[in-house]
Amino acid sequence: MGQLKITILGCGASGGVPAIGNNWGECDPTNPRNNRMRSSISIQSENTTIVVDTGPDFRHQINRANISKIDAILYTHAHGDHVAGIDELRAFQRRYKKAIPVYSNQVTIDKLSRQFDYMFKDISNGFYPKVLDPYIFKDTDYTLPQTIGDINFVPVEQDHATCISLGFRFGNIGYSTDMINLSDESISAFKGIDTWIVDGAGYFYDPITVHANVPRLLELNEKIGAKKIYLTHMSLMMDFEDMLKRLPDGFYPCYDGLEFLTDNIL
Ligand SMILES: [Zn+2]
Repeated sequence: MGQLKITILGCGASGGVPAIGNNWGECDPTNPRNNRMRSSISIQSENTTIVVDTGPDFRHQINRANISKIDAILYTHAHGDHVAGIDELRAFQRRYKKAIPVYSNQVTIDKLSRQFDYMFKDISNGFYPKVLDPYIFKDTDYTLPQTIGDINFVPVEQDHATCISLGFRFGNIGYSTDMINLSDESISAFKGIDTWIVDGAGYFYDPITVHANVPRLLELNEKIGAKKIYLTHMSLMMDFEDMLKRLPDGFYPCYDGLEFLTDNIL
């Protein structure tokens, strides 16, 4: 069974904190926990490393976490803040002479293979080899256990208003970035988790736009029952210390580098 280590590689909203131009917004620049790269996590067992999303900060994130090999990427959706570091995967293909499996739903894989077509095929007789091997979750895969290497997980469909995004359950930890709502079926896949790492970008928005706010998370968690809720995808309006004071009991702001452990169970 073993354990999984989940690391917050980034918990920033689409622009990161500070945003380009050294814009810290409401965040205190002297608190290192306000320095947020774009939202991403790694999941590591003894033998396997999976990363969720490859945003614009991908190379820095992987180097800082000292990850030297990636067995697969799970993509939540194809928005730029989650995919645009995809080109960095070329360096892993070159190093290990092996295409990297990328998993998502049909819509996301279709978008990636249009926007980054050169990553999905051999070009110039293989001088530029294919970098990515796409794997598409079927409708019947959602809420059911999947395995990559020796890491077990459950993919979950989420409503992100502009598209369907994917969330994931690893043992007793749920990861739900870029989400405004969950169907009953998706809620049941998260039921019983201990910790929910979840989209908090809608904190200052009522009504909800494309990211969840705290009232929505409380409503969903009444059914899910997570004991701890860690907000990710946090904007430059969300100062770490200020959020600690504002958030309801059981809610915490993530910070880059934060680690969680969970059993590698289905
Ligand atoms: Zn996003």
